[in-house]
Amino acid sequence: MAAHDPTALIHHPYQPPAGFEAPQAGVFKASTVIFPNVAAMRARDWKHKHGYTYGLHGTPTTFTLEERIAHLEHGLQCVLAPSGLAAIALVDMALLQHGDEVLIPANAYGPGKDFAAQQLAGWGITHRFYDPLDAAGLDAMIGPATKLVWLEAPGSVTMEFPDLRGLVAVARARGVRTALDNTWGAGIAFDGFDLGQGLGCDVVMQALTKFPSGGGDVLMGSVTTRDEALHLKIKLAHMRLGLGVAANDAELVLRSLPSIALRYHAHDRAARALAAWLQQRPEIARVLHPALEGSPGHEHWRSLCTAAAGLFSVVFEPRYTPAQVDGFCDALRLFKLGYSWGGPVSLVVPYDLKAMRNPVPYDGTLVRFSIGLEEDEALRADLAQALAGLG
Ligand SMILES: *Cc1c(COP(=O)(O)O)cnc(C)c1O
Repeated sequence: MAAHDPTALIHHPYQPPAGFEAPQAGVFKASTVIFPNVAAMRARDWKHKHGYTYGLHGTPTTFTLEERIAHLEHGLQCVLAPSGLAAIALVDMALLQHGDEVLIPANAYGPGKDFAAQQLAGWGITHRFYDPLDAAGLDAMIGPATKLVWLEAPGSVTMEFPDLRGLVAVARARGVRTALDNTWGAGIAFDGFDLGQGLGCDVVMQALTKFPSGGGDVLMGSVTTRDEALHLKIKLAHMRLGLGVAANDAELVLRSLPSIALRYHAHDRAARALAAWLQQRPEIARVLHPALEGSPGHEHWRSLCTAAAGLFSVVFEPRYTPAQVDGFCDALRLFKLGYSWGGPVSLVVPYDLKAMRNPVPYDGTLVRFSIGLEEDEALRADLAQALAGLG
C-alpha cells in the first residue's frame, strides 16, 4: 500500500470546471494570493480592482461587496472596514493631520465623538461640536484649520434631523470636506451624494452592522466616495492601517443585501405605527421620530427623505424617576435590552442624557427603541403591559 503523500494532497491537480453560477457570489478566503510568475507579482496594482496581491488588499468576495455598497450609496468607490466605528476612525485618520480641526454634530454617534476627544486630540487634531439644525452657526464656526465636517442624519439617540442641504452648502462654500454617517438612511431613505440643488456629501460612511447585515450578527463598516483622488487617499490609509474584513462576514452581508429595502420599509412602517401610538400615551412627554410632525428637524426629513428607519426615542414625563423608567425597560418581554439596530429583534436602551449632551435637550428620561420584524400588535401589547407596570 502506498504511503500517504502530503505533497499530492496540497498540490493535487484537480481543478473544478469553470463556469459555476449560483444566486449567491462565491466566498474566497485568503491571506496569501498566488501569482503565476514574478513579473505578474511585481506588476500587480492593489490600488485598483485589476487583480489580487494579498488578502488584506481584497478578494473577489470583498471586491463584490464593495461594488454593491457603492451602488447602494449611489457612489463610485468603496472600502470596507471591520466595524462602523472603524470606518469613522478611518475617515478621520485619512483626512485629518496635526493642526487640523474637525466639526462634529452635537448629537452624533457617541463613540465617534469619543474617538475625536480621546484619540484625535492626542495627535494634535482638535474638534468642536455644532448644532446640526443651525447651518449659519456652522458657518460661523468654520475657520482656517477646519478640514472636515461630519454629518449624521438624524442624530443618534435624540433623533434631530439636520438641515443637511444647508450644512453641506455652508461647508462647500468654505471649501471644507463633508463626511456623512449614513447608517440610519442606509442608502434607502435618501441619497447622500445627491441632496438636491446640486449639493452632496464628499464621503458617505455606513455601519453595515445595521441594515445591510440585518441579522445582528455581523460587524462591518463602509466608506464610499465619488471622487477617485479622495478614494485613493482613504484606500491608502486603509492599507497602511491594515484594515480588513473576513470573507464569511462579507458573505453574510452579500446575502442580506437583496432584501435590505424590504426590511427597511417593514421596520419603518412598524416604527411609525408604534411611535404614533406612544405619542397618545399619558406617560410619554415626547416622541422623537423624524417622520413625526413636531419632531426636531421634521421639515428637513420631509424635504429630503422618502422613508425612515425603524428607530425612535421617547422622553418620559418628568414625574417618572430614572429608576421607574429602568423598571419599564426591564418589564418589556419582546423588546430586548441591547445596543445596535437593524436586526429582527426589537431592542430598547434607556439613555442618561446628562452624560451625553450639554446642555441637556430634554427634561425627563429618554428611551430609544429599535423596531425589529415582529408583529406590530405583539410589540404594542408588550409596550402596554410594561407601561401599565409604571403605576
Ligand atoms: C452602530 C453605529 C455606528 C458604529 O457601527 P459599529 O459597527 O457598531 O461600530 C456608527 N454610526 C451609527 C449612526 C451607528 O448607529
